[in-house]
Amino acid sequence: MSNQKTVLIVEDEKNIVDILRFNLQREGYNTMEAYDGADGLEKARTGNPDLILLDVMLPKMIGFDVCKQLRAEGNNVPVIILTAREEEADKVLGLEIGADDYITKPFSMRELIARVGANIRRTAMSAPAAATASAASMPVSGELSINTDSHQVFRSGKAIDLTQREYELLTFLASHPNKVYSRIALMEQVWNYGYVGDDVRTVDVTVRRLREKIEVDPANPAYILTRRGVGYYFAV
Ligand code: CA
Repeated sequence: MSNQKTVLIVEDEKNIVDILRFNLQREGYNTMEAYDGADGLEKARTGNPDLILLDVMLPKMIGFDVCKQLRAEGNNVPVIILTAREEEADKVLGLEIGADDYITKPFSMRELIARVGANIRRTAMSAPAAATASAASMPVSGELSINTDSHQVFRSGKAIDLTQREYELLTFLASHPNKVYSRIALMEQVWNYGYVGDDVRTVDVTVRRLREKIEVDPANPAYILTRRGVGYYFAV
């Protein structure tokens, strides 16, 4: 089996597709291309890509809907949203579309390649680095339990549907109970980014989404707590 990874590019601007394809192939990736949302969805279903670069404004079906639909079908392929404006970034992370990451146009090719690599590495690891062997199958706290073999999270015995990133953030924090991590540390440990910038708010939004799924009362969390001015921790 080849180690070569395939990136699906869903973007209606041909110039951008061409430059993405050129640079990704130069980095050793296979590429597939789709020029509208409907075709992107179809290729994501049938082509088994390792990662999707997904534009927002697309003919036939917008990128948000493509991502939402894939998640609804249980497809957890990493998705990086290509946003035209910074304001869209909040939507990408805030809406329940299940994207893993976003990058704002115009992007630097070096940054994009780094993000692609980080997101593929993260999912390529059979067990995420975050979930150490010692974490095995951990009944973590109260009604919450994590099965790291099946990658499933349960609350009161009921399975909770998490994105890959939400799952990794949870298992990372839960495997270091009561230890407070800064957003920068989480960015490095869970997101595998060797650099940080404004991206740390990605951590905040992911924590918020995770709380909405695992907490009985997300506004008054019992599992993932905030240490003001420091960061987040998993309370036991
Ligand atoms: Ca577009």
